[in-house]
Amino acid sequence: MDILIVALASLIVFALGASIGSFINVVVYRLPARLSILWPPSRCPHCLNQLKAYDNVPVMGWLWLKGRCRYCKSQISLRYPVIEAITGIIFLLVFLVFNVSIFTIGYWAFCSWLLALSLIDLDTMTLPNPLTKSGLVVGIIFQMVVGFLPEASWVGLIKHLMMGIAGAVLGLWLFDGISIIGSIAFGKAAMGAGDAKLAAMMGAWLGWKYLLLASFIACALGVLVGGGAIIRSRRKFGQQMPFGPFLALGAVITIFSGEAILSSYLRLFLPAS
Ligand SMILES: [Zn+2]
Repeated sequence: MDILIVALASLIVFALGASIGSFINVVVYRLPARLSILWPPSRCPHCLNQLKAYDNVPVMGWLWLKGRCRYCKSQISLRYPVIEAITGIIFLLVFLVFNVSIFTIGYWAFCSWLLALSLIDLDTMTLPNPLTKSGLVVGIIFQMVVGFLPEASWVGLIKHLMMGIAGAVLGLWLFDGISIIGSIAFGKAAMGAGDAKLAAMMGAWLGWKYLLLASFIACALGVLVGGGAIIRSRRKFGQQMPFGPFLALGAVITIFSGEAILSSYLRLFLPAS
């Protein structure tokens, strides 16, 4: 019986995530093009025919249309159902780890923002202000709710509000700092201004301590992937590489295992007495 409930809940959570993923596809496609996110409803980019509700079902719609538009038969990118499935899986993982809690709802939102920003950065090498700013505001609100909820404590709310603000400020300073040092050392900006704003947003959600961990993971992954790409001569040294996806990945890894990483790191330097 219990297993049945978990399976049913998982299915609902996956479907919810896939639907949000479908919306993320819309945001990623329309926001950089400065189109309205809410209007018009989903339509084929080739023949502009509006999608039927049942063709718009996340993942499934693409499958039963066999990846082609119902009207003009032009191909629909595999990317759309893949993003929907990935969002569904992320939602499911968050739910399985954080259960029914404020963290599950918060991290669903956080991961959605991170995914949308990563995809836009990969597509356009930009991180749009409206997304990083709104993400920062929602992150601060999340901190306040997390601080207030357990004991309806205003002190907790203020404490968490401060933690979120400190994280946001640190993120801004850290990556603006890296950018300035980079421009002195290499004669050009190592980071875009958008990266600092994304780091500020992450700081609001994670607090300064976990922001540092996420940034460290992001830089390590960036060096690893960037170095690998240079060795396989896919890129020239100094060629631009979007850093947003690495920051986002650092944040997601921190959500799931930040506590474990930090405590084992501290154990290395502070042996139990
Ligand atoms: Zn069409």
